[in-house]
Amino acid sequence: MKAAFLYSDEFSRFNYGTSHPLKPIRLKLTYELIKACGLLTPSDPRLIEPHPALVEDLRTFHSPDYLDMLKASNSGRSPAGAALFGLGPGDNPVFAGVFDWSLLVAGASLKAADLVDSGEAEVAFNISGGLHHAMADHASGFCYINDPVIAIKTLVKRGRRVAYVDIDAHHGDGVQEAFFGSDRVLTISLHETGQALFPGSGFEYELGAGAGTGYSVNIPLPPETDDELFVHAFTEVVPPLLDVFRPDIVVSQLGVDTFRSDPLAHLNITTNGFCHVVTMLKAMAPKWVALGGGGYDIANVARAWTLAWAIMNDTDAPAEIPDFFRQQHPHVGFAGTKLQDQPFEMGGRRKEEMRKEVARLVDYSKRHGMRRP
Ligand SMILES: [Zn+2]
Repeated sequence: MKAAFLYSDEFSRFNYGTSHPLKPIRLKLTYELIKACGLLTPSDPRLIEPHPALVEDLRTFHSPDYLDMLKASNSGRSPAGAALFGLGPGDNPVFAGVFDWSLLVAGASLKAADLVDSGEAEVAFNISGGLHHAMADHASGFCYINDPVIAIKTLVKRGRRVAYVDIDAHHGDGVQEAFFGSDRVLTISLHETGQALFPGSGFEYELGAGAGTGYSVNIPLPPETDDELFVHAFTEVVPPLLDVFRPDIVVSQLGVDTFRSDPLAHLNITTNGFCHVVTMLKAMAPKWVALGGGGYDIANVARAWTLAWAIMNDTDAPAEIPDFFRQQHPHVGFAGTKLQDQPFEMGGRRKEEMRKEVARLVDYSKRHGMRRP
Protein backbone atom coordinates (compact mmCIF):
# COMPACT_ATOMS: atom_id res chain seq x y z
CA MET A 1 0.00 0.00 0.00
CA LYS A 2 1.41 3.36 -0.97
CA ALA A 3 -1.23 5.69 0.44
CA ALA A 4 -3.53 5.32 3.44
CA PHE A 5 -6.66 7.31 4.26
CA LEU A 6 -7.65 7.48 7.92
CA TYR A 7 -11.38 7.76 8.32
CA SER A 8 -14.12 6.92 10.78
CA ASP A 9 -17.87 7.58 10.56
CA GLU A 10 -17.48 8.55 14.22
CA PHE A 11 -15.87 11.86 13.11
CA SER A 12 -19.24 13.31 12.15
CA ARG A 13 -20.82 12.30 15.47
CA PHE A 14 -19.28 15.40 17.06
CA ASN A 15 -20.60 18.92 16.83
CA TYR A 16 -18.97 22.10 18.14
CA GLY A 17 -22.36 23.84 17.99
CA THR A 18 -24.52 25.14 15.15
CA SER A 19 -22.97 28.62 15.09
CA HIS A 20 -19.35 27.40 15.39
CA PRO A 21 -17.29 27.70 12.18
CA LEU A 22 -15.53 24.34 12.58
CA LYS A 23 -17.89 21.69 11.25
CA PRO A 24 -16.74 18.06 11.69
CA ILE A 25 -19.37 17.18 9.05
CA ARG A 26 -16.86 18.54 6.48
CA LEU A 27 -14.84 15.36 7.07
CA LYS A 28 -17.72 13.12 6.04
CA LEU A 29 -18.38 15.38 3.06
CA THR A 30 -14.74 15.02 1.97
CA TYR A 31 -14.82 11.24 2.33
CA GLU A 32 -18.08 11.07 0.36
CA LEU A 33 -16.69 13.27 -2.43
CA ILE A 34 -13.51 11.15 -2.64
CA LYS A 35 -15.70 8.05 -3.03
CA ALA A 36 -17.99 9.80 -5.53
CA CYS A 37 -14.92 10.64 -7.63
CA GLY A 38 -13.90 6.98 -7.68
CA LEU A 39 -10.78 7.58 -5.58
CA LEU A 40 -11.76 5.18 -2.75
CA THR A 41 -14.30 2.40 -2.21
CA PRO A 42 -15.84 1.38 1.14
CA SER A 43 -13.86 -1.90 1.12
CA ASP A 44 -10.65 -0.28 -0.09
CA PRO A 45 -7.48 -1.58 1.60
CA ARG A 46 -6.21 2.01 1.67
CA LEU A 47 -9.06 2.96 3.99
CA ILE A 48 -7.93 2.65 7.62
CA GLU A 49 -10.29 2.99 10.57
CA PRO A 50 -8.51 4.79 13.42
CA HIS A 51 -8.87 3.97 17.11
CA PRO A 52 -8.91 6.51 19.93
CA ALA A 53 -5.52 7.36 21.43
CA LEU A 54 -4.79 6.42 25.03
CA VAL A 55 -4.68 9.12 27.66
CA GLU A 56 -0.98 8.24 28.12
CA ASP A 57 -0.39 9.25 24.50
CA LEU A 58 -1.83 12.70 25.19
CA ARG A 59 0.36 13.06 28.28
CA THR A 60 3.46 13.15 26.08
CA PHE A 61 2.54 16.81 25.46
CA HIS A 62 -0.46 17.88 27.54
CA SER A 63 -0.47 18.59 31.27
CA PRO A 64 -2.33 16.20 33.61
CA ASP A 65 -4.49 19.05 34.99
CA TYR A 66 -5.63 20.07 31.53
CA LEU A 67 -6.37 16.48 30.50
CA ASP A 68 -8.40 15.98 33.71
CA MET A 69 -10.45 19.08 32.90
CA LEU A 70 -10.98 18.02 29.28
CA LYS A 71 -12.10 14.57 30.42
CA ALA A 72 -14.48 16.15 32.95
CA SER A 73 -15.94 18.25 30.08
CA ASN A 74 -16.87 15.18 28.03
CA SER A 75 -20.48 15.21 29.24
CA GLY A 76 -20.97 18.55 27.47
CA ARG A 77 -21.42 20.49 30.72
CA SER A 78 -18.68 22.96 31.68
CA PRO A 79 -16.97 21.95 34.93
CA ALA A 80 -16.02 24.69 37.40
CA GLY A 81 -12.72 26.26 36.38
CA ALA A 82 -12.93 25.16 32.73
CA ALA A 83 -12.29 28.73 31.54
CA LEU A 84 -8.83 28.61 33.14
CA PHE A 85 -7.97 25.99 30.51
CA GLY A 86 -9.42 27.89 27.55
CA LEU A 87 -12.65 25.88 27.60
CA GLY A 88 -16.10 27.45 27.41
CA PRO A 89 -18.31 29.65 25.25
CA GLY A 90 -16.49 30.99 22.16
CA ASP A 91 -13.68 29.34 20.23
CA ASN A 92 -13.34 26.17 22.28
CA PRO A 93 -16.81 25.18 23.44
CA VAL A 94 -17.48 22.35 25.85
CA PHE A 95 -19.59 20.00 23.71
CA ALA A 96 -20.81 16.46 24.34
CA GLY A 97 -17.94 14.07 23.55
CA VAL A 98 -15.22 16.74 23.41
CA PHE A 99 -12.74 14.37 25.07
CA ASP A 100 -13.76 11.40 22.88
CA TRP A 101 -13.32 13.60 19.79
CA SER A 102 -9.85 14.60 20.96
CA LEU A 103 -8.81 10.99 21.61
CA LEU A 104 -10.07 9.89 18.19
CA VAL A 105 -8.32 12.67 16.26
CA ALA A 106 -5.06 12.04 18.13
CA GLY A 107 -5.43 8.28 17.59
CA ALA A 108 -5.84 8.84 13.85
CA SER A 109 -2.68 10.95 13.65
CA LEU A 110 -0.73 8.40 15.69
CA LYS A 111 -1.94 5.64 13.37
CA ALA A 112 -0.91 7.72 10.35
CA ALA A 113 2.55 8.17 11.88
CA ASP A 114 2.83 4.41 12.56
CA LEU A 115 1.77 3.43 9.04
CA VAL A 116 4.35 5.73 7.50
CA ASP A 117 7.16 5.00 9.95
CA SER A 118 6.76 1.23 9.57
CA GLY A 119 6.85 1.51 5.78
CA GLU A 120 3.31 0.11 5.37
CA ALA A 121 2.39 3.37 3.65
CA GLU A 122 4.45 6.07 1.99
CA VAL A 123 1.83 8.65 2.83
CA ALA A 124 -1.05 8.57 5.32
CA PHE A 125 -3.72 11.28 5.29
CA ASN A 126 -5.68 12.08 8.46
CA ILE A 127 -8.14 14.75 7.39
CA SER A 128 -9.41 15.12 10.98
CA GLY A 129 -5.94 16.09 12.26
CA GLY A 130 -3.76 19.17 12.12
CA LEU A 131 -5.21 20.82 15.24
CA HIS A 132 -2.10 22.94 15.57
CA HIS A 133 -3.15 25.62 18.07
CA ALA A 134 -3.71 23.41 21.15
CA MET A 135 -1.19 24.22 23.89
CA ALA A 136 0.22 21.91 26.56
CA ASP A 137 -2.09 23.26 29.24
CA HIS A 138 -5.01 24.83 27.42
CA ALA A 139 -7.30 24.68 24.40
CA SER A 140 -6.88 27.34 21.72
CA GLY A 141 -8.25 28.21 18.29
CA PHE A 142 -10.80 25.34 18.01
CA CYS A 143 -8.05 22.88 19.03
CA TYR A 144 -8.18 20.84 22.24
CA ILE A 145 -5.42 18.28 21.66
CA ASN A 146 -2.39 18.99 19.51
CA ASP A 147 -2.31 15.85 17.36
CA PRO A 148 0.65 17.02 15.21
CA VAL A 149 2.81 17.45 18.32
CA ILE A 150 1.75 14.08 19.77
CA ALA A 151 2.51 12.29 16.48
CA ILE A 152 5.86 14.08 16.04
CA LYS A 153 6.91 13.33 19.63
CA THR A 154 6.27 9.61 19.07
CA LEU A 155 8.45 9.67 15.96
CA VAL A 156 11.22 11.65 17.66
CA LYS A 157 11.25 9.16 20.54
CA ARG A 158 12.03 6.48 17.94
CA GLY A 159 15.01 8.52 16.76
CA ARG A 160 13.43 10.03 13.65
CA ARG A 161 14.19 13.50 12.32
CA VAL A 162 10.93 15.23 11.55
CA ALA A 163 10.17 18.30 9.45
CA TYR A 164 6.76 19.89 10.08
CA VAL A 165 5.38 22.00 7.24
CA ASP A 166 2.21 23.99 7.94
CA ILE A 167 0.32 25.78 5.14
CA ASP A 168 -2.84 26.69 7.12
CA ALA A 169 -3.90 30.36 7.01
CA HIS A 170 -3.11 30.56 10.74
CA HIS A 171 0.33 30.26 12.32
CA GLY A 172 1.09 26.75 13.66
CA ASP A 173 1.84 28.20 17.09
CA GLY A 174 1.28 25.13 19.28
CA VAL A 175 3.63 22.98 17.21
CA GLN A 176 6.27 25.71 17.04
CA GLU A 177 6.14 26.19 20.80
CA ALA A 178 6.48 22.45 21.49
CA PHE A 179 9.74 22.21 19.52
CA PHE A 180 11.07 25.78 19.82
CA GLY A 181 14.24 24.64 21.62
CA SER A 182 14.85 21.48 19.56
CA ASP A 183 17.11 20.82 16.56
CA ARG A 184 15.48 17.40 16.01
CA VAL A 185 12.30 18.94 14.63
CA LEU A 186 12.26 21.64 11.96
CA THR A 187 8.99 23.60 11.90
CA ILE A 188 8.09 25.74 8.89
CA SER A 189 4.82 27.69 8.81
CA LEU A 190 3.48 29.80 5.94
CA HIS A 191 0.42 31.74 7.04
CA GLU A 192 -1.35 35.09 6.99
CA THR A 193 0.55 37.59 9.11
CA GLY A 194 -0.26 37.71 12.82
CA GLN A 195 -0.82 41.43 12.38
CA ALA A 196 -4.09 40.58 10.65
CA LEU A 197 -5.08 37.15 11.96
CA PHE A 198 -5.27 34.86 14.98
CA PRO A 199 -3.14 33.77 16.83
CA GLY A 200 -1.10 36.97 16.34
CA SER A 201 2.25 35.15 16.22
CA GLY A 202 4.50 33.54 13.60
CA PHE A 203 6.67 36.50 12.67
CA GLU A 204 9.85 35.91 10.69
CA TYR A 205 12.05 36.71 13.68
CA GLU A 206 10.59 33.78 15.70
CA LEU A 207 13.49 31.46 14.88
CA GLY A 208 13.72 29.02 17.79
CA ALA A 209 15.90 29.12 20.90
CA GLY A 210 19.10 27.49 22.17
CA ALA A 211 19.95 24.37 20.15
CA GLY A 212 16.76 24.99 18.17
CA THR A 213 17.81 28.41 16.88
CA GLY A 214 17.06 28.53 13.17
CA TYR A 215 14.81 25.45 13.39
CA SER A 216 11.59 27.47 13.57
CA VAL A 217 10.89 29.22 10.28
CA ASN A 218 7.94 31.52 9.64
CA ILE A 219 6.66 33.23 6.51
CA PRO A 220 3.92 35.66 7.65
CA LEU A 221 2.25 36.44 4.33
CA PRO A 222 0.42 39.72 3.72
CA PRO A 223 -3.39 39.64 3.52
CA GLU A 224 -4.64 38.99 -0.06
CA THR A 225 -1.60 36.87 -0.98
CA ASP A 226 -2.46 34.92 -4.14
CA ASP A 227 -1.35 31.59 -5.60
CA GLU A 228 1.65 33.02 -7.44
CA LEU A 229 3.22 34.57 -4.34
CA PHE A 230 2.24 31.67 -2.07
CA VAL A 231 3.85 29.12 -4.40
CA HIS A 232 6.87 31.40 -4.84
CA ALA A 233 7.42 31.71 -1.07
CA PHE A 234 6.96 27.97 -0.56
CA THR A 235 9.35 27.09 -3.41
CA GLU A 236 12.04 29.48 -2.23
CA VAL A 237 11.90 28.44 1.42
CA VAL A 238 10.71 24.87 1.96
CA PRO A 239 12.72 22.65 -0.47
CA PRO A 240 16.11 24.24 0.38
CA LEU A 241 15.48 23.81 4.12
CA LEU A 242 14.39 20.18 3.71
CA ASP A 243 17.48 19.54 1.55
CA VAL A 244 19.68 20.65 4.41
CA PHE A 245 17.68 19.14 7.28
CA ARG A 246 17.18 15.77 5.58
CA PRO A 247 14.12 14.62 7.53
CA ASP A 248 13.23 10.95 7.87
CA ILE A 249 9.58 11.95 7.87
CA VAL A 250 7.64 15.04 6.84
CA VAL A 251 4.49 15.89 8.79
CA SER A 252 2.37 18.47 6.98
CA GLN A 253 -0.68 20.44 8.03
CA LEU A 254 -2.82 21.06 4.93
CA GLY A 255 -5.32 23.65 6.20
CA VAL A 256 -7.46 25.18 3.44
CA ASP A 257 -8.65 28.33 5.22
CA THR A 258 -6.16 30.08 2.90
CA PHE A 259 -8.75 29.93 0.13
CA ARG A 260 -10.36 33.00 -1.40
CA SER A 261 -13.86 32.29 -0.13
CA ASP A 262 -12.88 31.19 3.36
CA PRO A 263 -14.83 33.29 5.87
CA LEU A 264 -12.10 33.46 8.57
CA ALA A 265 -8.90 34.52 6.77
CA HIS A 266 -8.01 37.02 4.03
CA LEU A 267 -5.80 35.14 1.58
CA ASN A 268 -6.50 34.46 -2.10
CA ILE A 269 -5.34 30.89 -2.58
CA THR A 270 -7.18 28.56 -4.97
CA THR A 271 -6.95 24.83 -5.61
CA ASN A 272 -4.27 25.70 -8.21
CA GLY A 273 -1.74 27.02 -5.68
CA PHE A 274 -2.76 24.44 -3.09
CA CYS A 275 -2.29 21.49 -5.46
CA HIS A 276 1.04 22.87 -6.66
CA VAL A 277 2.34 22.93 -3.10
CA VAL A 278 0.90 19.50 -2.24
CA THR A 279 2.59 18.06 -5.34
CA MET A 280 5.89 19.57 -4.19
CA LEU A 281 5.44 18.09 -0.72
CA LYS A 282 4.89 14.68 -2.25
CA ALA A 283 8.08 14.98 -4.27
CA MET A 284 10.11 16.12 -1.27
CA ALA A 285 8.82 13.86 1.50
CA PRO A 286 10.56 10.48 1.77
CA LYS A 287 7.78 9.47 4.17
CA TRP A 288 4.78 11.70 4.61
CA VAL A 289 2.19 12.13 7.33
CA ALA A 290 -0.45 14.47 5.88
CA LEU A 291 -2.91 16.09 8.27
CA GLY A 292 -5.95 18.26 7.68
CA GLY A 293 -6.39 21.63 9.37
CA GLY A 294 -8.54 24.72 9.04
CA GLY A 295 -11.18 25.21 6.36
CA TYR A 296 -14.49 26.93 7.04
CA ASP A 297 -16.04 26.86 3.58
CA ILE A 298 -16.90 23.19 3.57
CA ALA A 299 -17.23 23.01 -0.23
CA ASN A 300 -13.56 24.09 -0.46
CA VAL A 301 -12.52 21.55 2.16
CA ALA A 302 -14.11 18.65 0.30
CA ARG A 303 -12.77 19.72 -3.10
CA ALA A 304 -9.24 20.55 -1.97
CA TRP A 305 -8.66 17.43 0.12
CA THR A 306 -10.12 15.25 -2.64
CA LEU A 307 -7.57 16.77 -5.01
CA ALA A 308 -4.81 16.27 -2.41
CA TRP A 309 -5.77 12.59 -2.03
CA ALA A 310 -5.56 12.17 -5.83
CA ILE A 311 -2.05 13.68 -5.80
CA MET A 312 -1.02 11.33 -2.97
CA ASN A 313 -2.08 8.43 -5.19
CA ASP A 314 -0.36 9.73 -8.35
CA THR A 315 -3.70 9.80 -10.08
CA ASP A 316 -5.95 12.42 -11.66
CA ALA A 317 -9.17 13.51 -10.05
CA PRO A 318 -12.07 14.07 -12.47
CA ALA A 319 -12.55 17.63 -13.73
CA GLU A 320 -16.20 17.77 -12.66
CA ILE A 321 -17.84 17.22 -9.29
CA PRO A 322 -20.16 14.29 -10.06
CA ASP A 323 -23.71 15.56 -10.74
CA PHE A 324 -25.32 13.10 -8.36
CA PHE A 325 -23.02 14.29 -5.58
CA ARG A 326 -24.02 17.94 -6.03
CA GLN A 327 -27.67 16.92 -6.11
CA GLN A 328 -27.25 14.90 -2.91
CA HIS A 329 -25.66 17.90 -1.16
CA PRO A 330 -27.65 20.96 -2.27
CA HIS A 331 -26.82 22.99 0.87
CA VAL A 332 -23.04 22.68 0.68
CA GLY A 333 -22.69 25.67 -1.63
CA PHE A 334 -20.43 24.41 -4.41
CA ALA A 335 -19.68 27.55 -6.43
CA GLY A 336 -19.59 25.67 -9.74
CA THR A 337 -19.45 22.22 -11.23
CA LYS A 338 -15.65 21.86 -11.28
CA LEU A 339 -13.40 20.26 -8.72
CA GLN A 340 -10.65 22.79 -9.51
CA ASP A 341 -10.98 26.56 -9.14
CA GLN A 342 -10.43 28.98 -11.98
CA PRO A 343 -6.94 30.53 -11.72
CA PHE A 344 -6.89 33.87 -9.89
CA GLU A 345 -4.17 36.48 -9.73
CA MET A 346 -4.04 39.81 -7.93
CA GLY A 347 -2.91 42.81 -9.93
CA GLY A 348 -2.06 46.47 -9.58
CA ARG A 349 -0.19 48.33 -6.89
CA ARG A 350 -1.32 46.01 -4.13
CA LYS A 351 0.34 43.09 -5.89
CA GLU A 352 3.60 44.99 -6.20
CA GLU A 353 3.56 45.83 -2.48
CA MET A 354 2.90 42.19 -1.66
CA ARG A 355 5.65 41.04 -4.01
CA LYS A 356 8.19 43.25 -2.21
CA GLU A 357 7.09 42.02 1.21
CA VAL A 358 7.26 38.34 0.19
CA ALA A 359 10.74 38.91 -1.29
CA ARG A 360 11.83 40.45 2.00
CA LEU A 361 10.45 37.50 4.01
CA VAL A 362 12.11 34.94 1.75
CA ASP A 363 15.42 36.76 2.01
CA TYR A 364 15.12 37.00 5.80
CA SER A 365 14.44 33.29 6.20
CA LYS A 366 17.34 32.39 3.90
CA ARG A 367 19.68 34.47 6.03
CA HIS A 368 18.41 33.33 9.44
CA GLY A 369 16.87 29.88 8.91
CA MET A 370 18.61 26.65 9.76
CA ARG A 371 21.94 26.05 7.99
CA ARG A 372 23.99 22.96 7.36
CA PRO A 373 25.56 21.95 10.71
ZN1 LIG B 1 -6.46 27.93 10.29
